[in-house]
Amino acid sequence: MGLMKSWVQTANSATCPFPLNNLPCGVFSRGDADPHCGMAIGDFVLDVTALEAEGLLVLDGGPLLDVPFWNAVMEAGAEVWASVRAQVMALLQDGASKRFLVEDHLVPLHGIDLHMPFLVSEFTDFYAGRHHATNVGTMFRGAENALPPNWLHLPIGYNGRASSVVVSGTDVRRPWGQVKGADHALPAFLPSRRFDIELEMGAVVGVPSQGPVTVAEADAMIFGYVLLNDWSARDIQAWEYQPLGPFQAKATATTISPWVVMKAALQPFRLSTPPREVPLLPYLQEPGPMLYDIALEVALAPEGGKETVICRTNCREMYYSAPQQLAHHTTSGCAMNAGDLLGSGTISGPDKTSRGSLLEMSWGGKEPFAVAGGTRSFIEDNDTLTLRGSAKGDDYTIGFGDCAGKVIPALSDPYAR
Ligand code: CA
Repeated sequence: MGLMKSWVQTANSATCPFPLNNLPCGVFSRGDADPHCGMAIGDFVLDVTALEAEGLLVLDGGPLLDVPFWNAVMEAGAEVWASVRAQVMALLQDGASKRFLVEDHLVPLHGIDLHMPFLVSEFTDFYAGRHHATNVGTMFRGAENALPPNWLHLPIGYNGRASSVVVSGTDVRRPWGQVKGADHALPAFLPSRRFDIELEMGAVVGVPSQGPVTVAEADAMIFGYVLLNDWSARDIQAWEYQPLGPFQAKATATTISPWVVMKAALQPFRLSTPPREVPLLPYLQEPGPMLYDIALEVALAPEGGKETVICRTNCREMYYSAPQQLAHHTTSGCAMNAGDLLGSGTISGPDKTSRGSLLEMSWGGKEPFAVAGGTRSFIEDNDTLTLRGSAKGDDYTIGFGDCAGKVIPALSDPYAR
């Protein structure tokens, strides 16, 4: 499929992240106005809340867009998702007869505020990047035992916190936490000195479930995808994580991109997961291609300084797809809800330049790497970390918008009252 042409001219360039093919879902406001739901097109956001209010967009069971989040649409199911896309495409396509009615509802992207695109009902984070798991395992357990014995058999995950998920552009304050003391010394309570990112994709559940679902059913439940940065305090993590896994190290913040790219927009970019080293149990087997070819990168910019791209990788490096993770998540009978967010786990590639965390890039701090104006092992105060993702067609691009956060200095004393 090639570029679908729009009368919004800026949407028709091969490099624009928001062509008519994409139409990602966000929530925006301008000035003091109330936040509305919008879909990005070219250099604009289309105010779909206003379109629905004026009857230019009619959804089954509507109004669904009269609230500043997409959950009602997500929960309405796949027919409504397809209907939103089809109706908005018809309004924005080249030669659309209702253009004159729609033009007033285009708002320039420049100068708007972007909010959380949906209410996160729960957040689960996985560990589906084989290169990441191997790198981290090698650092902590040696190359022989790099992958835990369960890793090739199931997508490892843990239940995170919905309350810590924030939208791109939100500052992230360096956390304090308990870290291991040297040798036999007591542990210390300090600002994290090894604060890090994790480059991930987030899958957004639309259709709820009760009880176990198949991988195919799980794929059908997913509304769309976001970029996701799972901020991680490595020094806190190293001390706390055994035996129950990450806790406070991951609870400071998780940043998502402001736009949810609907699954339909990514359809042409589907890929199978990499070959299995050992066969999966039947309930986890992929009935079709459920990964995506999405180029990913991470950039680091010090305060007032130049940005350096420190990682380039691809979503295709994941060993388990989001539908496999979601299916596994339901095996216990665990119910899923509209707005459930599933982090993929860090997506590192095989090369040094494709590592999705600073922990891996600096090999545990032993090999600082160059950035414009200095070197880094971990994040320094006032660094801005930006994740970007794009799926490339022949003459168009599907983007997610920047997933960015600036790390601001720790409080001098978090318990000062
Ligand atoms: Ca993570």
